[in-house]
Amino acid sequence: MARHGIGIDIGGTQLRAALVTAAGGIVERDRRPTPADDPTTLLDSLAHLIEALRVQAGEQLPVGIGMAGLVTAAGEVRYGPNIGVRDLPLAATLTERVGGHIVVANDASVAALGEQRAGAGAGVPDLVLVTLGTGVGGGLVVGGRLVTGVSGFAGEVGHVVVSEHGRPCPCGNRGCLEAYASGTAIGALARDRLVDPNVVTALRDHDHVGGKQVTAAAHAGDRIAREVLEEAGSWLGVAIASLVNVLDPNLILLGGGAAAAAEPWMLDAARRTMAAHLVGSAWRQPPGVELAVLGDDAGVVGAGLLALERDHTASGAPR
Ligand SMILES: [Zn+2]
Repeated sequence: MARHGIGIDIGGTQLRAALVTAAGGIVERDRRPTPADDPTTLLDSLAHLIEALRVQAGEQLPVGIGMAGLVTAAGEVRYGPNIGVRDLPLAATLTERVGGHIVVANDASVAALGEQRAGAGAGVPDLVLVTLGTGVGGGLVVGGRLVTGVSGFAGEVGHVVVSEHGRPCPCGNRGCLEAYASGTAIGALARDRLVDPNVVTALRDHDHVGGKQVTAAAHAGDRIAREVLEEAGSWLGVAIASLVNVLDPNLILLGGGAAAAAEPWMLDAARRTMAAHLVGSAWRQPPGVELAVLGDDAGVVGAGLLALERDHTASGAPR
């Protein structure tokens, strides 16, 4: 088995790449700007990153790529909102160009694998990662294996419906978790409260109230901002309870910038609400709901490990 995998995270603004060890350590990094809305330049940039890291390693290392959007098991990007691509056979096109073993998966899925192998979930076989940022994503590791589903779309925790006729979600449906717990949604929940002129809050000092303003106000002691984060956390707890009732995992991890910023209000509310909705709560210990620890590295670490583990051409047993 190759000593290292190349992990690449296609973000909205940056392509981050790293040489990742089998233990999930990073030994080398590279990055360049993400060419938005231009698949040809994107493929050029990815090919250059891969070739540079392979030259440095002196080996045809396997490559794993994580990106936001709907990615099939065959590595075809059905829809990638960050980079404005549709129906791009990313794994096949890149393999044709640079050769070797290349896998592509959803960014939150590979981040879940990274956290389970080398982060907050190390040593735990079953976990769910929920990523809270501009949107809400998620990934599942069950029995130590990344679950990507029949079509590659498993783990879309953000679109678990928590309220049937609820708030509109960017996906086109209503009442999805993303419409209540993303950074964007937290801003919207707060703006709804400002409609009542009797509500006293420092949030009125801002021209625009988004998730960042709400978390900053909560940390400065604003009661309304804290209530908004608790509300978002409660909806998160409702969604998590359903996942726990289905999967019974060891651990729930919350990643993404909005999760860390909204601690403790959002996390505490999520833990309470989840525990209240678990079946058999008198006979079980609820799973921990904790912050992920790899931060921005979760994607490259998970992608590099996925590449190593799915590299069937190597001598090691595939997992
Ligand atoms: Zn949705």
